Amino acid sequence: MSNKIIIAIDGTSSTGKSTLAKRISKQLNYLYIDSGAMYRALTYYAIKRKFISNSHFDKTKLIADIPNINIDFRNNLTNNNLEVHLNGISYENKIRSLEVSNLVSEIATVDELRKQMVLVQHALGLNKGVIMDGRDIGTVVFPNAELKFYLEATTELRAKRRYDELLLTDKNITYDEVLDNIKLRDNQDTTREHSPLKKANDAVLINTDNLTLDELESKLLSYINPLITKNL
Ligand code: C5P
Repeated sequence: MSNKIIIAIDGTSSTGKSTLAKRISKQLNYLYIDSGAMYRALTYYAIKRKFISNSHFDKTKLIADIPNINIDFRNNLTNNNLEVHLNGISYENKIRSLEVSNLVSEIATVDELRKQMVLVQHALGLNKGVIMDGRDIGTVVFPNAELKFYLEATTELRAKRRYDELLLTDKNITYDEVLDNIKLRDNQDTTREHSPLKKANDAVLINTDNLTLDELESKLLSYINPLITKNL
């Protein structure tokens, strides 16, 4: 029997989901899939095609254009991470910008897009051995995942983490802008009609406020390891 499982990590932004998922994927030799990057790539596409801006959103045109959008993951040979590609190209830095962050939750409300992303996510999980983070992984994408985590942290701490991260590439960014973006996304992600962010009933709740990354990694592994061993 295969000892590989599917691990879902959901939670609000900047709770440490992706950093932890990446670290654990390396430990276990699992695929790490950043599902948020898919919605970010879609948003970048919609901005470039002028389907969305701060003042308008032409959902109908975006939906009509879905057949022209291909989202997949390819290995970055430099760091051995899977990177999202939009029509064959990686826009890793651009999809992390505040411009994309401010519009991504609007794009993520579109059910037609979500359905396409779930198809890609299911295909990636076919052979198990996957750790995927996002907002609806434990509730909608892999409701039968062997292990689910839900990460939470206070808003201000999350904003500080994100601000420090973004400052490395954008010296003009302010803490208040980042805080506003986090509050906006929290609200949109938890109140949208389709696949809203919520904790799955069977997810392990972890508060990341007062733990270091090493402590968090150990904590998650303490849930993961027995399951992997049991399935051997
Ligand atoms: O994980 P990240 O913060 O990069 O995600 C960006 C946005 O993508 C989220 O705020 C949310 O609107 C959307 N998202 C989603 N479902 C997922 C992952 C991300 O709706 N599974």
